[in-house]
Amino acid sequence: TMTDPVQAPTKARLLDGPALWPAQAHVPTVIGRQLIIERGEGSYVFTSDGRRLFDGTAGLWHANIGHSHPELARAAYEQMMRLETHHIFARFTNDKAHALGERLAGLAPFERAKVILNSGGSDAIDVACKLARRHWQREGRSSKKVILSREFAYHGLHAYGTSIAGLEFNREGYGTDSLVPETARVSFNDAGQVARVVDEIGAENIAAIVTEPIQGTGGVNPPVPGYLEAIQRICRENDILLILDEVITGFGRTGKMFAAERYGIQPDLLTFAKGITSGYAPLGGVLVSPRIWEPFYVDSPATPIFRHGATYAGHATASAVALAHLEILERDQLIPRVGDLERVLHRELAGLDAGHSGVIEVRSAGLLGGVTLADHLSAEAIADDLIELGFISRPLRGNTLQISPPFIISDDELVSYVQAIGHAINERE
Ligand code: PLP
Repeated sequence: TMTDPVQAPTKARLLDGPALWPAQAHVPTVIGRQLIIERGEGSYVFTSDGRRLFDGTAGLWHANIGHSHPELARAAYEQMMRLETHHIFARFTNDKAHALGERLAGLAPFERAKVILNSGGSDAIDVACKLARRHWQREGRSSKKVILSREFAYHGLHAYGTSIAGLEFNREGYGTDSLVPETARVSFNDAGQVARVVDEIGAENIAAIVTEPIQGTGGVNPPVPGYLEAIQRICRENDILLILDEVITGFGRTGKMFAAERYGIQPDLLTFAKGITSGYAPLGGVLVSPRIWEPFYVDSPATPIFRHGATYAGHATASAVALAHLEILERDQLIPRVGDLERVLHRELAGLDAGHSGVIEVRSAGLLGGVTLADHLSAEAIADDLIELGFISRPLRGNTLQISPPFIISDDELVSYVQAIGHAINERE
């Protein structure tokens, strides 16, 4: 039998609760019930109350090479002993950020990429959206400001990410429809609808379309066949920039370095974070195509400046960790390994779907899966049950369970994980 890990607290205990605010959660629901993760090792995490849990979500889709990797700990230590960081404004740069720029340009899914580095995915989205608007302003087409995003989209929660959120609850409560003016939502699966919205708003008013290749937080929604290609065509035909948000999919999650390669898409801007360091350092950034960066590199006093810099842009320790991490991904052949695991996941999810009336739909691409449950089952409750069984999943939009384990798992571990989900469903049916 399965029980809640900890009793819900009384109201008094709540107000007297811990100082650390679990933002993005319903506080009365989570305070007193939080499991404290104290340690990680490979694909497992360990809690203060003695549990060993299979990390079936890789934290927040980030821990791709697993937890507590000694080589990355060493890379961070060695870099900090030399230089924690140095800013990259004007006359200065630092060797590690510089080297990481070269490395990323070589991995980019388009030619001659430039790289902007910062601290995470939300940051990267802010930069990409600013750069898209800056681009058209500089071109003398300053009416092109609207940023289109898809329903159910998640692009982090900085100002732009909040404003372009396709999950409504992330956009609400700030007194306007969006913090940043001039954003609009389009269909997540109907490219015809996107074309109609573009016509209604007018291409002369639209700066960019932002899309995750595979929606993550929106429920693990791989693109409907042809959708991304159609979006790319709409962008090209209407002089609209395409921003591909690869914060989850970048660095191997779909079996390719970038999902852009998997789906044959060439964005103008590509955002990344999480998987560049597997979370060993907070780092994100944007790959920028020549069309956008070239005007900023012209040898003339009149050349414009992209006014976006931060203390931690190009953080040396984060960059050193990223370089070491990319070496490990390659040396240990972890991205091709995702290709193998993709087939196992696909097969096991098909079995889960066939064997359980409580499963409405399963979706997967690469090592990313979603299991949508019937209304009489609650993904939240099943995720709680799974913790009791020793597995971490997470409820996403649409009564869906998230599956996104580290790349280092065995076939058997993946099979056991999906079986555990089946078992938890059986217990509640
Ligand atoms: N974009 C996507 C697609 C994401 O999934 C996330 C985070 O989950 C973000 C952006 C925001 O990244 P961060 O949480 O590093 O700010």
